[in-house]
Amino acid sequence: MKMPTTLNSENSGNPLHALARALGVEARGDGGPCAVCGESPFETACTMKALGNMFNRWSRLASPGVNAICEGCKYATGGHSSRKPRPVRMTSFVIECGKFNVLQQADWWELLNKRPDKPFVASWATSRKKQHMLHAGWSGDGIWRIGADERCIVFEHREDVMAAVVALRDIGARKGHIASGHYPPKLLTAHRKTIETAELALAEFRQKSMALDLIVYALPVDYDNKTMADRETSMPLPPSDHTAIELLADIAFGSSFRVDQGIRFWGGYFESRIKRFSRLPLPDALSNLMGEVGTGVTSAGAVSKRLAAMDTAEMNAVSESIRARTTLLHALAFEQMKEKRGTK
Ligand SMILES: [Zn+2]
Repeated sequence: MKMPTTLNSENSGNPLHALARALGVEARGDGGPCAVCGESPFETACTMKALGNMFNRWSRLASPGVNAICEGCKYATGGHSSRKPRPVRMTSFVIECGKFNVLQQADWWELLNKRPDKPFVASWATSRKKQHMLHAGWSGDGIWRIGADERCIVFEHREDVMAAVVALRDIGARKGHIASGHYPPKLLTAHRKTIETAELALAEFRQKSMALDLIVYALPVDYDNKTMADRETSMPLPPSDHTAIELLADIAFGSSFRVDQGIRFWGGYFESRIKRFSRLPLPDALSNLMGEVGTGVTSAGAVSKRLAAMDTAEMNAVSESIRARTTLLHALAFEQMKEKRGTK
């Protein structure tokens, strides 16, 4: 099986091998086929079991048919949370000139603003739980290919976008406002011109999956006396986002596919289906989605009930929310469903 093109760039080799080397894994023997990276220069004596139950990116295996993994992938993707240093899945990192460096949140802004002359591999431990490094590609020449939990975040460096984000921060917009494009009325009234100008630069960027989320995550903010967590959790989402989350959680809750294959379901299957149908009018999108994931009658009934209580404008707003913030709403639906399952 071919590696996805985002994982390779010319002459730079497989980013996973660069990662393993930077972590100090030495190539011994002849190498061979590896389920995770495809073809490995490292020893491939371990079976798939060596990945352990912390591995949750089964859809990203380069050679799913191979029952062997290499020493490099074993070390780079696995490891218990008690390991010192911490497993890579819990760590954002950059590899430059063969060196592995941990990236703290504060380091990202500088990284995203510089134009390095040499290619590098960077990856964002979005949830600190998943094998984000499997999505990392080579960045350089003003093109970023940053690994993240669910995808490779690919975007071009744009000074106008970075400046727009800073301008919004400087008028007091919070990270959640910038990421969602929804600003409180007070702020809109006071700074309409600034917001409109900034949004012009951001409009196209919002279509690039997760790029703006990463930039906003990296944006340095002076928090006065509030901690980051306080601010992040107090971000208000627009009401249509909440409705979208409820609907998606209902659909997931009743899905027979989820019951059978929870890891695959939450590991990209559900999200890709949400995306696939998101251009349809809301009732059609949801009914297609329910068909695809095998949502049972009880949950389907709950969804119809919610839809029946909405007018067209509300439905359009929910569709728009789902399209604009698929990844975020998918993640929040997961949280919501966990709570739901806990109470039933
Ligand atoms: Zn490997």
